[in-house]
Amino acid sequence: MSGEFNLIEKYFENRQANRDDVVLSLGDDCALVKAPNDMEIAISTDTLVAGTHFLKSANPAWVAHKALASNISDLAAMGATPAWLSFALTMPEPNEEWLAPFCDAFFELANQYGIQLIGGDTTKGPLSLTLTVQGLVPSGLALKRSGASVGDTVWVSGYLGHAHAGLDVVLDDQHASKPNAQTLERLHYLSEPRVSLGEALRGLASSAIDISDGVASDLRHILKRSKVGASIDVSKLPISDELISFVGSESKAQQYALVSGEEYELCFTVPNDKLALFESKTESLNVPVTCIGELTDGDQLELHNNGQALEWRLSGYDHFKGNQ
Ligand code: ADP
Ligand code: MG
Repeated sequence: MSGEFNLIEKYFENRQANRDDVVLSLGDDCALVKAPNDMEIAISTDTLVAGTHFLKSANPAWVAHKALASNISDLAAMGATPAWLSFALTMPEPNEEWLAPFCDAFFELANQYGIQLIGGDTTKGPLSLTLTVQGLVPSGLALKRSGASVGDTVWVSGYLGHAHAGLDVVLDDQHASKPNAQTLERLHYLSEPRVSLGEALRGLASSAIDISDGVASDLRHILKRSKVGASIDVSKLPISDELISFVGSESKAQQYALVSGEEYELCFTVPNDKLALFESKTESLNVPVTCIGELTDGDQLELHNNGQALEWRLSGYDHFKGNQ
């Protein structure tokens, strides 16, 4: 892209203090980093495309937060501590009015989580953001989707359903006058990756995943990989009063909570013999965690409301089309 070098220098270089383990950052053909011997490196890539994952007209600071938070959330789901980041940016033309607020928010969040931008690529084309994040986790302690057993309890962090309600507001002005619409719209973009929770779950959780497609759908990945079923009590789902007022009823809010994608909360399982230690470790974190059910024999996800079986047909989450 013409002006690429100026852009990189102006917006991406020297925005962060060097981590001790970064030997060489932006400016050469590759970055160089050093990993401690007793750690494994967790690596994940995600792309956000304008028009698919966010509207072109969306607040650039919110888009930056969403792009980085959703990537850091993958590290949190593995129990990894964020370390390094590469960023491939494609944009139609060098748009400084967009880039300035984007980068301010991007580096604010990166600094909050101690993750350093070490390289990337800048190209011309339809607006799209690809991030590769890398984190460190003590060898053998990464949280995987496999490893859960029958009888383990199923937990989620935070409150569920906000991201989907926020998407309603983003996509259709008609929802803007409903109670809490603006708060929910913000929450759609401004999720908080659960890094400290992921770190605390090392050695305690038998499996974990972050909620990007809705807890019902993401939990199914754990069930498949761990070869178990699950029984979930929808009356235990963590649902805010704001969501209930927005959607109009508790049962509707529960359905939102089950299918809401892009929440970036964690869903994880804890064996019964680790529950006491888990509760004492998570108490001090200031992150709400809620038990919503347990793992069962078989391979099905069964829903009930306080013991009463439910036959809800939950559809999958399709990014900017929302739930169908
Ligand atoms: P190359 O031709 O080797 O791909 P580039 O000209 O694309 O190099 O990039 C020059 C330097 O700037 C490299 O160190 C690269 O990692 C960095 N860089 C380019 N674009 C970005 C970006 N969007 N974010 C962070 N670093 C970038
Ligand atoms: Mg390049």
